Formats: sequence, structure tokens, C-alpha cells
Amino acid sequence: MKSFILVLLILCLPFLGESQNFQPAFIRQHIEFLASDDLEGRGTASLGEIKAANYIADVFEKLNLKPAGKNVSFFQPFEISFAIDGKAHQLIGRNVVGFLDNGASKTIVIGAHYDHLGRGYQGRSLSPDSKNKIHNGADDNASGTTGVLELAKYFSENDVVEKHNYLFITFSGEELGLIGSKRFTEKPTVPLNSISCMINMDMIGRLDENKGIIISGWGTSKVWGKLIPDLAKSQNLKYTVDSSGIGASDHTSFYLKDIPVVQFFTGGHGDYHKISDDPDKINVDGEARILNVIAGLLQNLDKEAAEPEFLSAGNAHSGVTTSNFKVTLGVMPNYSYSGKGLKIDGVTKARPAEKAGILVGDIITKLAGKDIATIYDYMEILGKHEKGQQVEAELLRGKEIKKVRVTF
Ligand SMILES: [Zn+2]
Repeated sequence: MKSFILVLLILCLPFLGESQNFQPAFIRQHIEFLASDDLEGRGTASLGEIKAANYIADVFEKLNLKPAGKNVSFFQPFEISFAIDGKAHQLIGRNVVGFLDNGASKTIVIGAHYDHLGRGYQGRSLSPDSKNKIHNGADDNASGTTGVLELAKYFSENDVVEKHNYLFITFSGEELGLIGSKRFTEKPTVPLNSISCMINMDMIGRLDENKGIIISGWGTSKVWGKLIPDLAKSQNLKYTVDSSGIGASDHTSFYLKDIPVVQFFTGGHGDYHKISDDPDKINVDGEARILNVIAGLLQNLDKEAAEPEFLSAGNAHSGVTTSNFKVTLGVMPNYSYSGKGLKIDGVTKARPAEKAGILVGDIITKLAGKDIATIYDYMEILGKHEKGQQVEAELLRGKEIKKVRVTF
């Protein structure tokens, strides 16, 4: 009987492939706990945040990570001030930090924020009458926190001594303005100059096959464009990139210390910052594939001859680019817009879109004579143009249809 099972296993192996590095069932378990009502939305400095911090520290401890917070604990406390019903209060939040020491000189930081909006008193809830309602934050960011836990498990148990150490860190205070990651980079528990690069996960639980993932920080080091495309291909993952190191998540704090950063994101959605961001909507298989890409990236970084070189790519939302585009419009697309066309969330100064008079809120429906249904149509058209070429863009501004001429 046993050998029969073994034969069956061997027969199945080629089909199981790499996706078995991360078990969707474990991913679901973590997210269901972190985003349960018992944790009350993990508001910074709340009892729910402490329960989540304990859960994360327990996982780190079982994996034999070294405590890398304050006073040989897993916790790095920080003071935070925010207003409740118009009155300011000082409270204590905490990051959770565990160190996988491979005896290397350089350390890669693998991070995600674990705080969320609590009962709607913190951050910006988009639910009507949100006060006193639990915001579970399954995608934002129990999903990324789970990524940190699963990667910690994978690299602790893989019987390989890598050429980098790994600092696994879950930040609090993110929803109140990247407070936890700012605290870490101001009072780092490993020397900042020993940090090779930082990998951030913020909302990786809603993979939509057609939209793919959004990778930010692409322009902060050439190494991302060198290593990630093949890994994404091996997992059949579509992706778009944003070159900027500055964005609305914790990688920004590291970028501002001249550390190469890369962040993974499955995109906005209708439950974003609402009480409906629940675990049953998480694509756990999709998250497992994203974690395979990140694990592969970490392994390939070990094979590089040199540490990732830092490049300045600071303009917030310098637009969707990929390494092989010669032109861009200089716009920040709205990734959560699911209607037809490319909705514009931001326009960069002195770039083709601004010069052509395209405004925030416009929806580009046609470019260079081609219909734009999704962001991929847009990217395809960019790929076919050269600097200096002129094309016509058709856009929707409110109910009005407008035509403008764009010079790339
Ligand atoms: Zn988030």
C-alpha cells in the first residue's frame, strides 16, 4: 500500500511543480485568524493589534527566529498620536521583528503591515457609518502579513544556508501614515547599511488573472527587471510595474534611506478600506503563486555577483512603465477601476499627458486609433510608439467625450 502511494506521488510530482512550496490551506488559516472579528480590525495600539502581534511572534518563535525587536523581544514599540472624536491621544503601537541569521554580512528585509482600520476610528474607512464596525482587513493586509509568515517558514525550514540573512518584520501604524516602518528605519534593530534591499507585500490576496499583479519600486534597482520577469512567467502571472520607490506603503520608508525596494500588490477593489474586506474573498491559490515568485526572487538574489544597486526613482507614481517601453504618458492609472478604458488617478508634470491637457478623473477610451478596454491595451500601444510621435487620444470627462493630441 505504501509503495503504491509513493508511485502515485512520483507520478504526480511533475504536475505539482513549484506551486507546492506554499500551501493554500496554510495561507487561508493565517488570514482567517488575522481577519477574524476577534481581532477587531487590528487597529494600531488596540487589543486586537496586540493579539495579532502575539500570533506573529508565536510563529516566529516556533521557527526559531531570533527576536529582533526591543530588549531581545520580538516587539518594537513606538509612540503614536492620533485623534479620536477630535481629541489627540498618545498610544503605543508595535512592530514585530524576527531575524533569520545565516551568518551573512547582508540582510534582506521582508515586510508587510499587519495593522488595519480597527473599528473604523483609524485611517480612512470608505464604508458609510463606519464607526464601531469591525474592518477585518483580510486583503489589507492580513494577506501580506501571511506572506511574511509563510516566507519565514519556507526559509527557516528549507535546510539551506543562504548568502543573506532575512529580517522578517510586520509593521503597525501603516494606516496612520507608515508610522511603524518610519520608526524602524529611524531606530533600526539591524544596521541600516547592512540591509541589501527591502521586499514589501501590501494586499496580495485578490489576484485577478486578467489584471495580474502590480509591482512597484521597479526603478529603484535594475535587479528587479533582470530577475522578476522570468519568475512571473514561470507562475503564469501577468504584471504591470510602477518605477517609483515612493508609494502608499512601508517600502517608502526604506526607499527614503536609499535602500532598493520592491512591492507586490494585487490591485484595488470595491472592498478596499470597507467592512467587506473579508477572508472569503481571498484568492489563496493566487497568493501561493505570488509567494513562489518572491521566494524565487530571494533565491536568485543569492546568485547575483553583487548586492542590488540603488537607483533613485523617487517621483511618486511616475506611471506604468516596463523596461522595454520607449514612451509613456506620465499618468497613474486607477487600478481598481473596472469599467472600460483607462481611468487616470494622477498626472505627472511636464509629461505627454499633462501637456495634452489630460486631467485626473479622465478615462482614456481610445489611443492612436485603438480602443482601450484595459490597462494591457494601453501598454500594448505604448510598446508600439517612439519618442516624438503624435497620436490622438479620445477620453471621457464626466459625460463629455473629448479628443486631444498627445506627443510622446
Ligand atoms: Zn495596506
